[in-house]
Amino acid sequence: MFVEKDFVKFLDNNSNILVDAPHSQPPEREFYTDEIAEKVATENGFNCIVSKISRTEADLNRSINYNLPYQQEARTEYIEVIKKLYENRKHKDKPYLHLTVHGMRDGYGADIEIGTVFDRVCSPQVRKQFVKAFRESLISEGLNPIIKVNNRYRFYGHPSLSELKIDDNYNIIQIEFSKNLRQTYRGEIINALTKTLKLI
Ligand SMILES: [Zn+2]
Repeated sequence: MFVEKDFVKFLDNNSNILVDAPHSQPPEREFYTDEIAEKVATENGFNCIVSKISRTEADLNRSINYNLPYQQEARTEYIEVIKKLYENRKHKDKPYLHLTVHGMRDGYGADIEIGTVFDRVCSPQVRKQFVKAFRESLISEGLNPIIKVNNRYRFYGHPSLSELKIDDNYNIIQIEFSKNLRQTYRGEIINALTKTLKLI
């Protein structure tokens, strides 16, 4: 069951995997990112955080001093929840993965962009393992999208993610899905993420 806070709701399954959707609320919502994060998490017993506030009022994927009306309170709450979920994880000896789900527009030459801020917020090993397994899982779902990783001109992961990296065991991957994929192939994406994250 989701726990409701002021700016986020979260699910604590004592898991080593967290799937979140920080830009899920209107206006300027990234459509279906909440549905993707919630389904992947609830169906597999992962942790989950979904925003309850629009990025026009507080952007959870920006630093605490970003100039928006509720930025300070919302970002503080988000970080508190992130820490609590990490503390409560079952397997302290295994890598922890925080997958943050976003949506981008169509027509930029990629269907999926994966960013780890050039591996500053994720170990290269976890990043490689994720990308390989995700590519294979998408193919097994009948999709063959163009995937770009740490594309320096686009979505390489927001630098503020480094503020969420608690220690060396904490890995963050930002993933951007095109509108077309989110709208038309949501089920396939959810299945492919499920297959991939079970392997991590
Ligand atoms: Zn976003």
